[in-house]
Amino acid sequence: MRQIPYATQWIDREDIASVVKVLKSDYLTQGPAVELFEKTVAEYCGAKYAVAVSNGTAALHIACLAAGLGKGDEGITSPITFAASSNAMLYCGAKPVFADVDQKTICIDPKEVKKKISKKTKVVIPVHFAGHPCDMKEIKAIAEKHNLLVIEDAAHALGAKYYGTKIGSCKYSDMTVLSFHPVKHIATGEGGMVLTNNNKLYEKLKMLRTHGITRETSSSPGGWYYEMQMLGFNYRLTDIQSALGISQMKKLSCFLKRRREIAQKYNDAFSEVDGIKIFPEKKGMRSAWHLYVIGVADRRRVFIALREKGILVNVHYIPVYRQPYYRENGYKGTCPRAEIYYEQAISIPMYPKMTDKEVNYVIDAIIGIVNE
Ligand SMILES: *Cc1c(COP(=O)(O)O)cnc(C)c1O
Repeated sequence: MRQIPYATQWIDREDIASVVKVLKSDYLTQGPAVELFEKTVAEYCGAKYAVAVSNGTAALHIACLAAGLGKGDEGITSPITFAASSNAMLYCGAKPVFADVDQKTICIDPKEVKKKISKKTKVVIPVHFAGHPCDMKEIKAIAEKHNLLVIEDAAHALGAKYYGTKIGSCKYSDMTVLSFHPVKHIATGEGGMVLTNNNKLYEKLKMLRTHGITRETSSSPGGWYYEMQMLGFNYRLTDIQSALGISQMKKLSCFLKRRREIAQKYNDAFSEVDGIKIFPEKKGMRSAWHLYVIGVADRRRVFIALREKGILVNVHYIPVYRQPYYRENGYKGTCPRAEIYYEQAISIPMYPKMTDKEVNYVIDAIIGIVNE
């Protein structure tokens, strides 16, 4: 039986040719493809600057460091996210604080963010869950009032729009982080990026990506000279990966269109079915539909039955504070709306390469199982 994954990449001949071209060129890393990839994504999103890095987690890490997050500080994020959003704060020695989600969008609720602010809070990391934008105007207003930096985790949201503004433009934030893992909108194998409009943050991000080293020094004894001015990392993306990214970006609008079509088919099929909860777009929002999540009362049974039919459903996410590592480090509380969501959530297949036949197969299987 053929299996239908919950997500997968779409690589074509053009992508392969683009990578092969770099393999035959002078630069495998730190060359022109990286710069072109950064320029392409920055222009698409409407941001001034972009820094490509080895993965989305590294992007979150250097964004937190550039924001000045350190020991004794706190950062606020959503519990319904991949562990990377809060782990990045832990890497900096800071403490993640979880604020509950909005029950309709499963994005962080600005009112809950407000409640979690303390004297130690330095950053907020809203996660555009499943590709649906967070309430950025509210989050920006809160951040300005309390002098916090905003780092958007847009790993799910390349191509999403918030009241006509592309996510990634950083209109309502200081930095935006992307991931190019194969389940995300475009694939580079592993890859990530930080977008910003702030020149100071940009310069810092570039240094943090490469050991904290710069050649732009106030004085220089000669052409060999460089300085390590802070402790950075090797978080570079290769030209091989960037070539794939550049080629994938040409197809992004087609990918997004197909994701919307599939979401529409699912919405139409499930909106009238008792026992299936859906999470449609809010007015003014354009989701990038990274995930399509349904809520069912009998999640365990439905999950098992779908997997038995070769439909490789998944759950996004177990609330992060439930993870043993977090529990062992003192996370006792829960977020009630995140808990209710988690008990019912199943991510069903959603990827541009999915055929109508596969979509219909998934729809029929779900409705059949839920009605059993
Ligand atoms: C995928 C993802 C990341 C991390 O990206 P990687 O490229 O896998 O490191 C961060 N946050 C969210 C919400 C993600 O889905």
